Amino acid sequence: MIPRSQILDILRHYNESDIKIGTICSHTALQIFHGARREGIPSVGIILPENKPYYESFNKALPETFIEVENYKEILNENIQKKLISENVLIIPHGSFVEYVGAENILEKFRVPMFGNRLTLFWEGDRRRQRRWLDEAGVSAPKIYERPEDIDKLVIVKLHGAKGGKGYFKASNPREFYEKFDQLRINNVISEINEVFIEEYIAGVRYYPHFFLSLLEKKNIPDLEEGRLELLGIDRRLEVIDEVYRGLPMIIEEYIDYTVTGNTPAVVREKYILELLKIAGRIASSARKLFYPGLIGPFCLETIYNPKRGFTVFEVSARIVAGTNLYPDGSPYSTFYFDEPMSMGRRIAREIKNAVKLNSLSKIVY
Ligand code: AMP
Repeated sequence: MIPRSQILDILRHYNESDIKIGTICSHTALQIFHGARREGIPSVGIILPENKPYYESFNKALPETFIEVENYKEILNENIQKKLISENVLIIPHGSFVEYVGAENILEKFRVPMFGNRLTLFWEGDRRRQRRWLDEAGVSAPKIYERPEDIDKLVIVKLHGAKGGKGYFKASNPREFYEKFDQLRINNVISEINEVFIEEYIAGVRYYPHFFLSLLEKKNIPDLEEGRLELLGIDRRLEVIDEVYRGLPMIIEEYIDYTVTGNTPAVVREKYILELLKIAGRIASSARKLFYPGLIGPFCLETIYNPKRGFTVFEVSARIVAGTNLYPDGSPYSTFYFDEPMSMGRRIAREIKNAVKLNSLSKIVY
């Protein structure tokens, strides 16, 4: 793993009066470029040539420059890394960036300074490790089943590295588990039992609150050790299974699919906001203990609210999530912190601008 000291050494040579924001043209890139423009920071889009005309068509979300690559893994090449470094680029790692380049490649080979703490890639990338983080925070999370034989209630079975919930299935007992597992094995989707993660199925309403943690600002809620926590929006992911009722009275098999296809805005009852802030604050504090300096900037909690159990957190995404694309002009919550339209992309650019002003860029980069 590239040590933080090495990245900060590279950052020390950056010309702080010419910082740029860079990312791969996918996921939340339009919002990131748009936010950077609003904050007056130039941006760099790493792009496949065939996608360029389409990204160029968004005149208000256009990066100042493009770097063309045939394949996104090319950004690991020495010449591209050198170019990004010589241009004083800070990379914003969104979901597709991590997906295309690979968490391990980023940790081991990518020397370009990134906004945020790259150790989060290690902690969120493995479901068991991530669970340790949630347990340490003392927040409610679904029970994990180490062995299929132990299944004693409804569980959701997740495939490792599955893209957006594809291939997940439910089971109520070991027999049902093995029937479905064997079918996936026959279809060559999986081969080993350790490729699945078995988790208690939580009934309730899903909410995905988006947070931003600023280490440059004063602590604003008691549950935090340091920093200011902002709730900048909430979404719900639209998954194929959400439409399962359309096949009624029959359940059409094809609808039993958790693939995320889009997002829709949501707000929660005001009293639940307090609960979400407490949970996020505790998760941020435990991150700080487990992988100092912990969370920096954007993160999202994947939660299910059940009136009897309260919020259960089933996953943390420690970076900008696609659900923030709903709010390029701010959300019903960002308006309680900022007088201007504040998207997550813009909030990131604002933080970078503030860090430069305070001579504290090293606090928000790894
Ligand atoms: P994930 O890959 O963990 O983000 O899960 C994908 C989708 O599966 C979620 O958006 C939910 O619809 C569903 N899901 C995940 N975990 C659970 C759970 N423990 N209980 C019920 N549904 C879940």
